[in-house]
Amino acid sequence: MDFRFTEEQNNFRGEVRGFLEGEIAGGLFKPGCDGWIHGFSPEFTRKLARKGWIGLSWPKEFGGQGRSNVDRFILTEEILRYGAPAALHWFADRQIGRAVMHFGTPEQKKEMLPRILHGDAWVGLGLSEPEAGSDLGSVQTRAAEDGDSYIINGQKMWTSCARYMNYMYLVARTDPTAPKHRGISEFIIPIPLPGVNIVPTIDITGTEAWGEVFFDNVKIPKTNLIGEKNRGFYQIVNQLDYERSGMERLMGNYPLFEALIKFSKETMRHGKPVCQDPLVRDKLARLQVEFEVGRLLTYRVAFVIDQGRVPNTEAAMAKVYCTAFEQHLADLATKIVGMYGQLTEDSKWAPISGMAAHSFLGSMGYSLQAGTSEILRNVIATRGLGLPEA
Ligand SMILES: Cc1cc2nc3c(=O)[nH]c(=O)nc-3n(C[C@H](O)[C@H](O)[C@H](O)COP(=O)(O)OP(=O)(O)OC[C@H]3O[C@@H](n4cnc5c(N)ncnc54)[C@H](O)[C@@H]3O)c2cc1C
Repeated sequence: MDFRFTEEQNNFRGEVRGFLEGEIAGGLFKPGCDGWIHGFSPEFTRKLARKGWIGLSWPKEFGGQGRSNVDRFILTEEILRYGAPAALHWFADRQIGRAVMHFGTPEQKKEMLPRILHGDAWVGLGLSEPEAGSDLGSVQTRAAEDGDSYIINGQKMWTSCARYMNYMYLVARTDPTAPKHRGISEFIIPIPLPGVNIVPTIDITGTEAWGEVFFDNVKIPKTNLIGEKNRGFYQIVNQLDYERSGMERLMGNYPLFEALIKFSKETMRHGKPVCQDPLVRDKLARLQVEFEVGRLLTYRVAFVIDQGRVPNTEAAMAKVYCTAFEQHLADLATKIVGMYGQLTEDSKWAPISGMAAHSFLGSMGYSLQAGTSEILRNVIATRGLGLPEA
C-alpha cells in the first residue's frame, strides 16, 4: 500500500492552489465555510469549467478529462480548503452528470452533458418530501402520463440550489399501484416552468441554500424521463453513494479549522497564547487525528471508484465519520473562541469572521443531509458487516 500521491498529482494540487490563490487575490471570492453549499458564483463556476475542472473524471467520450477520481478528490479538496464558491456546479458535476451518462438517452446526453461541462447547468436535487426522507420509497409527488407528456403534482423540500437552479433533478411516482419502490422514476426538468413555485428555505444559519418546490399540474415532455420508467429507485441508490462520498463531508468548514489554529496561536489569555493551554492543545491535536483519519477514509472512496467498484459501505463509513469530525470542530471552535464566538459574521465583534457560529449551526444538518448517520450505520451493519436487516 502506498499512501503517497504521484508527482503528477502533487503538481496538479499545486496548479489548483495557484489558481485559487490567484482568484482570492483578484477579489473573485473570500474564503468561507460551506462554499460548496452556500457559495453561488457563476463566474467562479465558469472559470473552473474553462480549465476543464468540471467533469474532470468523466470519460473523454462524454467531454470529460478522463482523469482519476483521486485527481478529482485532490481538486475538490483544494476548492474546499480555500472555501471557494462552488455550489452552482457541485451537484451536477458530482452525481447528475453521471446519472445522465449512465441512464440518459443520446439526446439527453447531447443536451445536458455539455451544459454541465461549461458550468451552465445548475441542477437542484429534488428527492425529499415532507413524508419521504430516509424512506425515499415513500415519495408521493406524482408524475401521471398524459399522451406525450407527464403531469407533475406534489411537493419537494430541502431542494439544494433551489433559488438558482435552471434544472431540477426530480424523483416522482409514476405508478401509484405498484409496490412503493417499483413505481418511482427519475426526471431532469428545466426550471422555471409554468406551475412550479419555489419557496426558499431560510436555514438555521440564515442563508437560503435550499427551498421547497411545489408542482401544480406541471406539464413536461416524456423525453425528460431519465432511464427506465418505474426503475428510478434502483437507479438512484447508486447515485447516493457518490453523493455521500466526497471531500465535502470532511472539509466543508476547513477555513474554520485553519482560522482556529491561527486564533489559538495569536490570541492572548491570562498572559499567554491560548494554544499554551494544555486542554486546548490536547483537543486541537485530537481534532487533527480525526481529520487525518477522515481524509484517509475519503481518499479510499476515490480509490474504490477508480477500481470500478461502487463505494457503498466505504462511502457510508466516510460520511458518518467525517460529518462527526465537522461537528466536533464546530463545537470545539465555539469553546475555544469563547462567548464572542456566538456572533455571526455581520457583527464587527465576531472573531474569525463569525465562522465558529456559522459552522456550529450549519454542521447540525451534515449528519442528516444525503442520508442520516443512523441510516448509514444501518448500511455499514448490513452490507459491511453482513448483519441481517433489523
Ligand atoms: C441541510 C439539509 C440539506 C438537505 N439537502 C437536500 C437536497 O438537496 N435534496 C433533497 O432531496 N433532500 C435534502 N435534504 C433532506 C435529507 O435527505 C433528509 O432530511 C434525510 O434523508 C432525512 O429525512 P427526514 O428529514 O425526512 O427524516 P426522517 O427520515 O423522518 O428521520 C427522522 C429520524 O429518524 C431516523 N430514522 C429514520 N429511519 C430510520 C431507520 N430505518 N433506522 C434508524 N433510524 C431511522 C433518522 O436517522 C432521523 O434521525 C437535506 C436535509 C438537510 C437537513
